[in-house]
Amino acid sequence: MDGLMQNAPLTVDRIIDHAAAWHGAREIVSRDADGHVTHADYAAVHADAKRVSNALAAEGIARGDRVATMAWNGARHLAAWYGAAGMGAVLHTLNPRLFLEQIAYIANHAGDRLLLADPAVADLVGELLPEVPSIEKVIFFCDEASLPATRYAAVAFDNWISGHSDEYAWGGFDENAACGLCYTSGTTGNPKGVLYSHRSNYIHALMTLQRDALALSARDTVLLVVPMYHANAWGVVYSAPAVGAKLVLPGQRMDGESIYNLIEAEGVTYSAAVPTVWQMLLQYMQDNGKRFTTLERVTIGGSACPESLVRTFRDDYGVDVIQGWGMTETSPLGTVSVPNASVAAKSDGEQMTYKLKQGRLLCGLEMKLVDDAGNRLPHDGKTPGRLMVKGPTIARSYYGGEGGDVLDAEGFFDTGDVSTIDSEGYMQITDRAKDVVKSGGEWISSIELENIATGHEAVAVAAVVGVAHPKWDERPILLCQLKPGASATGDDVRAYLDGRIAKWWMPDDILFVDEIPLGPTGKIDKKAIRAGLEAYELP
Ligand code: ADP
Repeated sequence: MDGLMQNAPLTVDRIIDHAAAWHGAREIVSRDADGHVTHADYAAVHADAKRVSNALAAEGIARGDRVATMAWNGARHLAAWYGAAGMGAVLHTLNPRLFLEQIAYIANHAGDRLLLADPAVADLVGELLPEVPSIEKVIFFCDEASLPATRYAAVAFDNWISGHSDEYAWGGFDENAACGLCYTSGTTGNPKGVLYSHRSNYIHALMTLQRDALALSARDTVLLVVPMYHANAWGVVYSAPAVGAKLVLPGQRMDGESIYNLIEAEGVTYSAAVPTVWQMLLQYMQDNGKRFTTLERVTIGGSACPESLVRTFRDDYGVDVIQGWGMTETSPLGTVSVPNASVAAKSDGEQMTYKLKQGRLLCGLEMKLVDDAGNRLPHDGKTPGRLMVKGPTIARSYYGGEGGDVLDAEGFFDTGDVSTIDSEGYMQITDRAKDVVKSGGEWISSIELENIATGHEAVAVAAVVGVAHPKWDERPILLCQLKPGASATGDDVRAYLDGRIAKWWMPDDILFVDEIPLGPTGKIDKKAIRAGLEAYELP
Protein backbone atom coordinates (compact mmCIF):
# COMPACT_ATOMS: atom_id res chain seq x y z
CA MET A 1 0.00 0.00 0.00
CA ASP A 2 1.36 3.44 -0.90
CA GLY A 3 1.39 6.31 1.55
CA LEU A 4 -1.09 9.06 0.90
CA MET A 5 1.33 11.97 0.87
CA GLN A 6 1.97 14.35 -2.00
CA ASN A 7 4.77 13.59 -4.36
CA ALA A 8 6.79 16.72 -4.95
CA PRO A 9 9.86 16.08 -7.12
CA LEU A 10 13.06 17.08 -5.31
CA THR A 11 14.34 19.49 -7.95
CA VAL A 12 16.68 22.32 -6.95
CA ASP A 13 14.59 25.10 -8.53
CA ARG A 14 12.33 24.66 -5.50
CA ILE A 15 15.22 25.69 -3.26
CA ILE A 16 15.76 29.06 -4.93
CA ASP A 17 11.96 29.50 -5.25
CA HIS A 18 11.74 29.05 -1.49
CA ALA A 19 14.60 31.47 -0.86
CA ALA A 20 13.01 34.13 -3.08
CA ALA A 21 9.53 33.67 -1.59
CA TRP A 22 10.44 33.53 2.09
CA HIS A 23 13.89 35.10 2.37
CA GLY A 24 13.62 37.38 -0.66
CA ALA A 25 15.29 40.40 0.90
CA ARG A 26 18.18 38.39 2.38
CA GLU A 27 21.39 39.68 0.88
CA ILE A 28 23.77 38.12 -1.60
CA VAL A 29 27.03 40.04 -1.60
CA SER A 30 29.58 39.61 -4.40
CA ARG A 31 33.08 40.96 -4.74
CA ASP A 32 34.68 41.12 -8.17
CA ALA A 33 38.35 40.82 -9.09
CA ASP A 34 38.86 44.60 -8.65
CA GLY A 35 37.57 44.43 -5.11
CA HIS A 36 34.31 46.11 -6.07
CA VAL A 37 31.42 44.87 -3.89
CA THR A 38 27.81 44.61 -5.13
CA HIS A 39 24.70 43.81 -3.11
CA ALA A 40 21.79 41.77 -4.44
CA ASP A 41 19.23 39.54 -2.69
CA TYR A 42 17.54 36.18 -3.22
CA ALA A 43 14.55 37.77 -4.97
CA ALA A 44 16.82 39.55 -7.47
CA VAL A 45 19.02 36.51 -8.14
CA HIS A 46 15.88 34.38 -8.56
CA ALA A 47 14.53 36.85 -11.15
CA ASP A 48 17.90 36.84 -12.96
CA ALA A 49 17.96 33.04 -12.90
CA LYS A 50 14.57 33.03 -14.67
CA ARG A 51 15.97 35.45 -17.26
CA VAL A 52 18.94 33.10 -17.71
CA SER A 53 16.51 30.22 -18.41
CA ASN A 54 14.77 32.30 -21.08
CA ALA A 55 18.12 33.38 -22.55
CA LEU A 56 19.28 29.75 -22.64
CA ALA A 57 16.04 28.66 -24.31
CA ALA A 58 16.53 31.43 -26.88
CA GLU A 59 19.98 29.94 -27.65
CA GLY A 60 18.28 26.61 -28.31
CA ILE A 61 19.53 25.00 -25.11
CA ALA A 62 17.35 22.01 -24.27
CA ARG A 63 17.05 19.67 -21.30
CA GLY A 64 20.22 17.70 -20.74
CA ASP A 65 22.44 20.13 -22.71
CA ARG A 66 25.66 21.10 -20.97
CA VAL A 67 26.18 24.77 -20.14
CA ALA A 68 29.67 25.50 -18.79
CA THR A 69 30.81 28.16 -16.37
CA MET A 70 34.44 29.04 -15.67
CA ALA A 71 34.22 31.58 -12.90
CA TRP A 72 34.77 32.40 -9.27
CA ASN A 73 31.94 32.89 -6.82
CA GLY A 74 29.53 35.73 -7.56
CA ALA A 75 25.80 36.48 -7.84
CA ARG A 76 25.78 36.27 -11.66
CA HIS A 77 27.36 32.82 -11.43
CA LEU A 78 24.67 31.82 -8.94
CA ALA A 79 21.90 33.08 -11.25
CA ALA A 80 23.40 31.09 -14.15
CA TRP A 81 23.63 28.02 -11.90
CA TYR A 82 19.95 28.05 -11.01
CA GLY A 83 18.81 29.32 -14.40
CA ALA A 84 20.41 26.35 -16.16
CA ALA A 85 19.33 23.76 -13.59
CA GLY A 86 15.76 25.11 -13.37
CA MET A 87 15.12 24.63 -17.09
CA GLY A 88 16.65 21.14 -17.07
CA ALA A 89 20.05 21.96 -18.57
CA VAL A 90 23.22 20.69 -16.90
CA LEU A 91 25.43 23.32 -15.28
CA HIS A 92 29.03 22.25 -15.80
CA THR A 93 31.59 24.04 -13.65
CA LEU A 94 35.06 24.29 -15.21
CA ASN A 95 38.05 24.97 -12.97
CA PRO A 96 40.11 27.86 -14.43
CA ARG A 97 43.13 26.81 -12.34
CA LEU A 98 43.66 23.62 -14.34
CA PHE A 99 46.09 23.44 -17.25
CA LEU A 100 44.67 24.42 -20.63
CA GLU A 101 44.93 20.85 -21.96
CA GLN A 102 42.97 19.54 -18.98
CA ILE A 103 40.22 22.15 -19.36
CA ALA A 104 39.99 21.41 -23.08
CA TYR A 105 39.84 17.68 -22.39
CA ILE A 106 37.05 18.19 -19.85
CA ALA A 107 34.99 20.64 -21.97
CA ASN A 108 35.25 18.33 -24.99
CA HIS A 109 34.37 15.30 -22.94
CA ALA A 110 31.31 17.11 -21.57
CA GLY A 111 30.34 18.52 -24.98
CA ASP A 112 29.72 21.98 -23.52
CA ARG A 113 27.58 24.21 -25.78
CA LEU A 114 27.84 27.58 -24.05
CA LEU A 115 30.55 29.04 -21.87
CA LEU A 116 29.79 31.64 -19.19
CA ALA A 117 33.04 32.97 -17.77
CA ASP A 118 34.65 35.59 -15.55
CA PRO A 119 36.14 38.50 -17.52
CA ALA A 120 39.39 37.70 -15.66
CA VAL A 121 39.79 34.48 -17.68
CA ALA A 122 39.25 36.09 -21.10
CA ASP A 123 42.75 35.14 -22.31
CA LEU A 124 42.33 31.55 -21.18
CA VAL A 125 38.97 31.39 -22.99
CA GLY A 126 40.74 32.66 -26.13
CA GLU A 127 43.19 29.76 -25.93
CA LEU A 128 40.45 27.29 -25.13
CA LEU A 129 37.99 28.09 -27.93
CA PRO A 130 40.01 26.65 -30.85
CA GLU A 131 40.38 23.43 -28.83
CA VAL A 132 36.67 23.01 -28.02
CA PRO A 133 34.56 23.24 -31.18
CA SER A 134 31.31 22.42 -29.36
CA ILE A 135 31.27 25.83 -27.63
CA GLU A 136 28.88 28.02 -29.63
CA LYS A 137 28.95 31.20 -27.59
CA VAL A 138 30.88 32.95 -24.84
CA ILE A 139 29.14 35.09 -22.24
CA PHE A 140 31.12 37.10 -19.69
CA PHE A 141 29.79 37.62 -16.17
CA CYS A 142 29.81 41.44 -16.37
CA ASP A 143 27.99 44.45 -17.76
CA GLU A 144 28.57 45.90 -21.22
CA ALA A 145 31.08 48.48 -19.97
CA SER A 146 33.29 45.81 -18.38
CA LEU A 147 33.31 43.45 -21.37
CA PRO A 148 36.95 42.48 -21.96
CA ALA A 149 38.52 43.22 -25.34
CA THR A 150 38.87 39.89 -27.14
CA ARG A 151 39.65 38.70 -30.64
CA TYR A 152 36.69 36.33 -30.47
CA ALA A 153 32.98 37.21 -30.21
CA ALA A 154 31.58 37.48 -26.69
CA VAL A 155 28.60 39.12 -25.01
CA ALA A 156 28.10 40.62 -21.57
CA PHE A 157 25.88 38.58 -19.21
CA ASP A 158 23.81 41.63 -18.21
CA ASN A 159 23.00 42.34 -21.87
CA TRP A 160 22.43 38.69 -22.64
CA ILE A 161 19.69 38.34 -20.02
CA SER A 162 18.21 41.86 -20.25
CA GLY A 163 15.03 41.98 -22.27
CA HIS A 164 14.22 38.43 -21.21
CA SER A 165 11.22 37.79 -18.99
CA ASP A 166 11.66 36.92 -15.32
CA GLU A 167 8.97 34.30 -15.69
CA TYR A 168 9.76 30.76 -16.74
CA ALA A 169 8.03 27.52 -15.76
CA TRP A 170 10.84 25.63 -14.07
CA GLY A 171 10.86 21.92 -13.28
CA GLY A 172 8.35 19.53 -14.79
CA PHE A 173 10.99 16.82 -15.09
CA ASP A 174 11.93 13.83 -13.01
CA GLU A 175 13.95 14.52 -9.86
CA ASN A 176 16.56 12.05 -11.12
CA ALA A 177 17.32 14.32 -14.10
CA ALA A 178 20.94 15.52 -14.34
CA CYS A 179 21.49 18.91 -12.70
CA GLY A 180 25.21 19.62 -12.47
CA LEU A 181 28.48 18.24 -13.78
CA CYS A 182 31.83 18.55 -12.02
CA TYR A 183 35.05 16.79 -12.95
CA THR A 184 37.47 15.50 -10.34
CA SER A 185 40.63 17.52 -10.69
CA GLY A 186 42.64 14.52 -11.76
CA THR A 187 45.03 14.12 -8.86
CA THR A 188 44.36 10.44 -9.53
CA GLY A 189 44.55 10.09 -13.33
CA ASN A 190 42.39 11.61 -16.07
CA PRO A 191 39.60 13.92 -14.89
CA LYS A 192 36.29 12.09 -14.58
CA GLY A 193 32.85 13.72 -14.65
CA VAL A 194 30.52 13.42 -11.68
CA LEU A 195 26.95 14.02 -12.82
CA TYR A 196 24.75 15.19 -9.94
CA SER A 197 21.00 14.80 -10.15
CA HIS A 198 18.43 17.26 -8.82
CA ARG A 199 17.47 14.68 -6.25
CA SER A 200 21.04 14.06 -5.05
CA ASN A 201 21.67 17.79 -4.66
CA TYR A 202 18.38 18.36 -2.85
CA ILE A 203 18.94 15.47 -0.45
CA HIS A 204 22.57 16.52 0.11
CA ALA A 205 21.38 20.02 1.08
CA LEU A 206 18.98 18.59 3.65
CA MET A 207 21.63 16.20 5.00
CA THR A 208 24.24 18.90 5.41
CA LEU A 209 21.85 21.28 7.16
CA GLN A 210 21.65 19.07 10.23
CA ARG A 211 22.92 20.58 13.48
CA ASP A 212 25.67 17.98 13.58
CA ALA A 213 26.73 18.79 10.02
CA LEU A 214 27.08 22.34 8.61
CA ALA A 215 24.22 23.62 10.80
CA LEU A 216 23.44 26.69 8.68
CA SER A 217 20.53 28.87 9.72
CA ALA A 218 18.58 31.93 8.58
CA ARG A 219 20.67 33.96 11.05
CA ASP A 220 23.99 32.98 9.49
CA THR A 221 26.09 35.04 7.15
CA VAL A 222 27.95 32.51 5.04
CA LEU A 223 31.21 33.28 3.28
CA LEU A 224 31.53 30.73 0.49
CA VAL A 225 35.30 30.55 0.07
CA VAL A 226 35.16 27.13 -1.56
CA PRO A 227 35.04 27.92 -5.27
CA MET A 228 31.78 27.07 -7.01
CA TYR A 229 33.82 25.08 -9.52
CA HIS A 230 35.21 22.77 -6.86
CA ALA A 231 33.33 19.70 -5.64
CA ASN A 232 29.80 21.08 -6.09
CA ALA A 233 30.70 24.10 -3.92
CA TRP A 234 30.33 21.73 -0.96
CA GLY A 235 26.59 21.99 -1.58
CA VAL A 236 26.49 25.45 0.02
CA VAL A 237 24.90 26.97 -3.11
CA TYR A 238 21.90 24.84 -2.16
CA SER A 239 22.03 24.75 1.64
CA ALA A 240 22.49 28.52 2.19
CA PRO A 241 19.45 29.53 0.06
CA ALA A 242 17.46 26.64 1.56
CA VAL A 243 17.62 28.32 4.97
CA GLY A 244 17.85 31.92 3.81
CA ALA A 245 21.37 32.55 5.08
CA LYS A 246 23.03 35.75 3.87
CA LEU A 247 25.54 34.66 1.25
CA VAL A 248 28.90 36.35 0.68
CA LEU A 249 30.62 35.42 -2.60
CA PRO A 250 34.28 36.47 -2.53
CA GLY A 251 35.29 36.29 -6.19
CA GLN A 252 38.88 35.54 -7.04
CA ARG A 253 40.89 37.04 -4.19
CA MET A 254 41.75 34.45 -1.57
CA ASP A 255 44.69 36.14 0.19
CA GLY A 256 44.45 36.56 3.95
CA GLU A 257 43.82 40.30 3.89
CA SER A 258 41.01 40.16 1.32
CA ILE A 259 39.24 37.32 3.11
CA TYR A 260 39.66 39.00 6.50
CA ASN A 261 38.27 42.32 5.27
CA LEU A 262 35.23 40.63 3.76
CA ILE A 263 34.53 38.69 6.96
CA GLU A 264 34.58 41.87 9.00
CA ALA A 265 32.74 44.11 6.50
CA GLU A 266 29.86 41.69 6.01
CA GLY A 267 29.59 40.25 9.53
CA VAL A 268 30.36 36.70 8.44
CA THR A 269 29.44 34.04 11.05
CA TYR A 270 30.31 30.89 9.11
CA SER A 271 32.69 29.88 6.37
CA ALA A 272 34.02 26.78 4.61
CA ALA A 273 37.35 26.20 2.88
CA VAL A 274 40.43 24.01 2.49
CA PRO A 275 43.16 24.35 5.17
CA THR A 276 45.58 26.38 3.03
CA VAL A 277 43.12 29.31 2.79
CA TRP A 278 42.76 29.38 6.58
CA GLN A 279 46.50 29.20 7.08
CA MET A 280 46.93 32.31 4.90
CA LEU A 281 44.16 34.09 6.81
CA LEU A 282 45.62 33.30 10.24
CA GLN A 283 49.09 34.33 9.11
CA TYR A 284 47.73 37.70 8.01
CA MET A 285 45.85 38.16 11.28
CA GLN A 286 48.86 37.25 13.39
CA ASP A 287 51.16 39.55 11.45
CA ASN A 288 48.72 42.47 11.74
CA GLY A 289 47.22 41.92 15.18
CA LYS A 290 43.67 41.48 13.83
CA ARG A 291 40.66 40.00 15.64
CA PHE A 292 37.34 38.57 14.45
CA THR A 293 34.20 40.29 15.66
CA THR A 294 31.50 38.01 14.17
CA LEU A 295 33.02 34.73 12.93
CA GLU A 296 31.78 31.76 15.01
CA ARG A 297 32.69 28.61 13.13
CA VAL A 298 34.40 27.27 10.04
CA THR A 299 34.25 23.96 8.25
CA ILE A 300 37.55 22.64 7.03
CA GLY A 301 37.80 19.87 4.51
CA GLY A 302 39.46 18.78 1.32
CA SER A 303 42.65 17.79 3.14
CA ALA A 304 43.48 16.80 6.68
CA CYS A 305 43.21 19.62 9.18
CA PRO A 306 46.40 20.26 11.18
CA GLU A 307 45.96 20.43 14.96
CA SER A 308 47.76 23.78 15.10
CA LEU A 309 45.02 25.28 12.91
CA VAL A 310 42.21 24.03 15.16
CA ARG A 311 44.01 25.28 18.28
CA THR A 312 44.90 28.70 16.90
CA PHE A 313 41.36 29.29 15.69
CA ARG A 314 39.89 28.19 19.01
CA ASP A 315 42.38 29.45 21.58
CA ASP A 316 43.45 32.71 19.94
CA TYR A 317 40.31 33.72 18.07
CA GLY A 318 37.38 31.87 19.70
CA VAL A 319 36.32 30.19 16.45
CA ASP A 320 35.21 26.55 16.37
CA VAL A 321 36.74 24.43 13.61
CA ILE A 322 34.66 21.53 12.34
CA GLN A 323 36.37 19.10 10.04
CA GLY A 324 34.45 17.46 7.21
CA TRP A 325 35.43 14.74 4.77
CA GLY A 326 34.12 14.25 1.30
CA MET A 327 34.95 14.14 -2.37
CA THR A 328 33.47 15.31 -5.65
CA GLU A 329 31.86 11.88 -6.03
CA THR A 330 30.06 12.20 -2.68
CA SER A 331 28.34 15.55 -3.42
CA PRO A 332 30.70 16.13 -1.44
CA LEU A 333 30.01 15.89 2.30
CA GLY A 334 30.18 12.39 3.80
CA THR A 335 31.39 12.68 7.38
CA VAL A 336 31.62 15.53 9.86
CA SER A 337 33.68 15.60 13.02
CA VAL A 338 31.38 16.81 15.77
CA PRO A 339 31.27 15.23 19.24
CA ASN A 340 28.64 12.62 20.01
CA ALA A 341 27.40 12.42 23.61
CA SER A 342 30.17 10.12 24.79
CA VAL A 343 32.96 12.15 23.15
CA ALA A 344 31.48 15.39 24.51
CA ALA A 345 31.87 13.95 28.01
CA LYS A 346 35.62 13.39 27.55
CA SER A 347 38.45 15.70 28.59
CA ASP A 348 39.52 18.56 26.34
CA GLY A 349 42.64 16.69 25.23
CA GLU A 350 40.71 13.54 24.36
CA GLN A 351 38.11 15.52 22.43
CA MET A 352 40.88 16.99 20.30
CA THR A 353 41.82 13.47 19.14
CA TYR A 354 38.31 13.10 17.75
CA LYS A 355 38.20 16.60 16.29
CA LEU A 356 41.22 15.72 14.18
CA LYS A 357 39.51 12.66 12.77
CA GLN A 358 37.35 13.10 9.67
CA GLY A 359 34.21 12.34 11.61
CA ARG A 360 30.91 10.53 11.77
CA LEU A 361 28.66 9.54 8.91
CA LEU A 362 25.69 11.64 7.83
CA CYS A 363 22.27 9.97 7.98
CA GLY A 364 21.35 8.40 4.65
CA LEU A 365 24.84 7.09 3.93
CA GLU A 366 26.57 3.79 4.66
CA MET A 367 30.30 3.17 4.95
CA LYS A 368 32.58 0.18 5.37
CA LEU A 369 36.28 -0.66 5.39
CA VAL A 370 37.60 -3.48 3.24
CA ASP A 371 40.92 -5.16 2.51
CA ASP A 372 42.30 -5.62 -1.00
CA ALA A 373 40.14 -8.74 -1.46
CA GLY A 374 36.98 -6.83 -0.51
CA ASN A 375 36.54 -8.44 2.94
CA ARG A 376 35.08 -6.20 5.65
CA LEU A 377 37.53 -5.03 8.31
CA PRO A 378 36.79 -4.25 11.98
CA HIS A 379 35.89 -0.80 13.30
CA ASP A 380 38.57 -0.85 15.99
CA GLY A 381 40.19 2.51 15.25
CA LYS A 382 43.42 0.70 14.34
CA THR A 383 42.92 -1.47 11.26
CA PRO A 384 43.26 0.60 8.08
CA GLY A 385 41.28 -0.40 5.00
CA ARG A 386 39.82 1.01 1.82
CA LEU A 387 36.91 3.29 2.62
CA MET A 388 33.74 2.40 0.71
CA VAL A 389 30.54 4.49 0.79
CA LYS A 390 26.98 4.12 -0.42
CA GLY A 391 23.86 6.30 -0.54
CA PRO A 392 21.66 8.64 -2.59
CA THR A 393 24.33 11.37 -2.76
CA ILE A 394 27.14 9.06 -3.93
CA ALA A 395 28.09 8.59 -7.61
CA ARG A 396 27.17 5.27 -9.19
CA SER A 397 29.28 5.84 -12.33
CA TYR A 398 31.13 8.59 -14.17
CA TYR A 399 29.89 10.66 -17.10
CA GLY A 400 30.38 8.79 -20.34
CA GLY A 401 30.99 5.53 -18.47
CA GLU A 402 34.59 6.56 -17.82
CA GLY A 403 36.37 4.26 -15.37
CA GLY A 404 33.84 1.49 -15.97
CA ASP A 405 31.91 -0.05 -13.12
CA VAL A 406 32.88 1.77 -9.95
CA LEU A 407 30.68 -0.03 -7.41
CA ASP A 408 31.39 -3.30 -5.62
CA ALA A 409 28.91 -6.19 -5.48
CA GLU A 410 27.11 -4.58 -2.53
CA GLY A 411 26.77 -1.26 -4.38
CA PHE A 412 29.52 0.58 -2.44
CA PHE A 413 31.72 3.19 -4.13
CA ASP A 414 35.47 2.91 -3.61
CA THR A 415 36.67 6.30 -2.36
CA GLY A 416 40.35 5.59 -3.00
CA ASP A 417 40.97 6.66 0.58
CA VAL A 418 42.48 4.48 3.26
CA SER A 419 41.01 4.97 6.70
CA THR A 420 40.17 3.54 10.08
CA ILE A 421 36.82 3.67 11.87
CA ASP A 422 36.78 3.63 15.69
CA SER A 423 34.27 2.21 18.13
CA GLU A 424 32.52 5.61 18.39
CA GLY A 425 31.99 5.60 14.61
CA TYR A 426 34.65 8.22 13.82
CA MET A 427 36.29 7.68 10.47
CA GLN A 428 39.91 8.78 10.12
CA ILE A 429 41.65 9.08 6.78
CA THR A 430 45.14 7.67 7.03
CA ASP A 431 45.98 8.22 3.38
CA ARG A 432 44.95 8.13 -0.20
CA ALA A 433 45.41 4.57 -1.40
CA LYS A 434 48.03 5.67 -3.92
CA ASP A 435 49.94 7.86 -1.43
CA VAL A 436 50.35 5.24 1.29
CA VAL A 437 54.01 4.38 1.72
CA LYS A 438 54.23 0.58 1.60
CA SER A 439 57.30 -0.35 3.59
CA GLY A 440 58.08 -4.03 4.19
CA GLY A 441 54.43 -5.03 3.76
CA GLU A 442 53.26 -2.44 6.33
CA TRP A 443 51.60 0.88 5.58
CA ILE A 444 53.00 4.24 6.59
CA SER A 445 50.45 7.04 6.52
CA SER A 446 51.90 10.00 4.62
CA ILE A 447 49.18 12.27 6.07
CA GLU A 448 49.99 11.39 9.66
CA LEU A 449 53.72 11.90 9.13
CA GLU A 450 53.02 15.26 7.48
CA ASN A 451 50.76 16.38 10.33
CA ILE A 452 53.36 15.52 12.93
CA ALA A 453 56.19 17.17 10.97
CA THR A 454 54.13 20.39 10.65
CA GLY A 455 54.16 20.53 14.44
CA HIS A 456 57.87 21.51 14.28
CA GLU A 457 58.02 25.25 14.88
CA ALA A 458 60.07 26.02 11.76
CA VAL A 459 58.02 23.92 9.32
CA ALA A 460 55.28 25.65 7.30
CA VAL A 461 54.29 22.82 4.95
CA ALA A 462 55.40 19.17 4.96
CA ALA A 463 54.94 16.51 2.31
CA VAL A 464 55.77 12.82 2.46
CA VAL A 465 56.18 10.58 -0.57
CA GLY A 466 57.31 6.99 -0.95
CA VAL A 467 60.50 6.28 -2.90
CA ALA A 468 61.32 2.83 -4.31
CA HIS A 469 63.65 0.84 -2.04
CA PRO A 470 65.40 -2.44 -2.94
CA LYS A 471 64.69 -4.12 0.38
CA TRP A 472 61.55 -2.49 1.76
CA ASP A 473 59.68 -1.81 -1.54
CA GLU A 474 59.23 1.81 -0.53
CA ARG A 475 60.59 4.18 2.07
CA PRO A 476 59.21 7.60 3.04
CA ILE A 477 61.05 10.82 2.41
CA LEU A 478 59.96 14.13 3.88
CA LEU A 479 59.96 17.47 2.07
CA CYS A 480 59.78 20.58 4.24
CA GLN A 481 58.95 24.15 3.33
CA LEU A 482 60.13 26.34 6.19
CA LYS A 483 58.29 29.36 7.57
CA PRO A 484 59.63 32.69 6.28
CA GLY A 485 62.83 33.57 8.17
CA ALA A 486 62.90 30.24 10.06
CA SER A 487 65.74 27.75 9.89
CA ALA A 488 66.12 24.06 10.73
CA THR A 489 68.37 21.17 9.72
CA GLY A 490 67.44 17.61 8.83
CA ASP A 491 68.79 16.54 12.24
CA ASP A 492 66.54 19.08 14.01
CA VAL A 493 63.46 17.71 12.30
CA ARG A 494 64.60 14.11 12.89
CA ALA A 495 65.08 14.86 16.59
CA TYR A 496 61.58 16.34 16.70
CA LEU A 497 60.04 13.28 15.03
CA ASP A 498 61.97 10.86 17.26
CA GLY A 499 59.59 9.57 19.92
CA ARG A 500 56.55 11.06 18.14
CA ILE A 501 56.44 8.36 15.45
CA ALA A 502 57.22 4.64 15.25
CA LYS A 503 60.94 4.12 14.57
CA TRP A 504 60.34 2.47 11.20
CA TRP A 505 58.30 5.50 10.09
CA MET A 506 61.37 7.76 10.31
CA PRO A 507 61.86 9.29 6.83
CA ASP A 508 64.99 8.02 5.06
CA ASP A 509 65.71 11.53 3.91
CA ILE A 510 64.56 15.07 4.72
CA LEU A 511 64.72 17.62 1.93
CA PHE A 512 64.20 21.36 2.30
CA VAL A 513 62.46 23.07 -0.59
CA ASP A 514 61.47 26.70 -1.25
CA GLU A 515 57.93 25.76 -2.08
CA ILE A 516 55.90 22.60 -1.89
CA PRO A 517 53.75 22.51 -5.04
CA LEU A 518 49.99 22.86 -4.52
CA GLY A 519 47.43 21.58 -7.02
CA PRO A 520 44.56 23.59 -8.51
CA THR A 521 42.37 23.09 -5.43
CA GLY A 522 45.01 24.07 -2.90
CA LYS A 523 46.08 20.54 -1.94
CA ILE A 524 49.65 19.28 -1.88
CA ASP A 525 50.38 18.09 -5.42
CA LYS A 526 52.09 14.74 -4.93
CA LYS A 527 52.04 14.05 -8.66
CA ALA A 528 54.25 17.11 -9.19
CA ILE A 529 56.49 16.17 -6.25
CA ARG A 530 56.99 12.66 -7.62
CA ALA A 531 57.72 14.04 -11.09
CA GLY A 532 60.36 16.33 -9.56
CA LEU A 533 61.97 13.37 -7.81
CA GLU A 534 62.37 11.12 -10.86
CA ALA A 535 66.16 11.30 -10.78
CA TYR A 536 66.29 11.21 -6.97
CA GLU A 537 68.12 8.40 -5.18
CA LEU A 538 67.85 7.55 -1.51
CA PRO A 539 70.98 8.28 0.53
P1 ADP B 1 40.61 15.62 -6.07
O1 ADP B 1 40.64 14.12 -6.26
O2 ADP B 1 40.70 16.37 -7.30
O3 ADP B 1 41.50 16.11 -4.97
P2 ADP B 1 38.28 16.02 -4.40
O4 ADP B 1 38.20 17.42 -4.04
O5 ADP B 1 37.05 15.30 -4.73
O6 ADP B 1 39.14 15.93 -5.66
O7 ADP B 1 39.10 15.32 -3.27
C1 ADP B 1 38.58 14.34 -2.45
C2 ADP B 1 39.67 13.78 -1.60
O8 ADP B 1 40.20 14.76 -0.72
C3 ADP B 1 39.21 12.67 -0.68
O9 ADP B 1 39.13 11.44 -1.36
C4 ADP B 1 40.29 12.67 0.39
O10 ADP B 1 41.44 11.98 -0.03
C5 ADP B 1 40.65 14.14 0.48
N1 ADP B 1 39.96 14.75 1.63
C6 ADP B 1 38.80 15.42 1.64
N2 ADP B 1 38.51 15.86 2.87
C7 ADP B 1 39.52 15.45 3.68
C8 ADP B 1 39.80 15.60 5.08
N3 ADP B 1 39.02 16.27 5.90
N4 ADP B 1 40.94 15.03 5.54
C9 ADP B 1 41.77 14.35 4.72
N5 ADP B 1 41.55 14.19 3.41
C10 ADP B 1 40.44 14.73 2.88
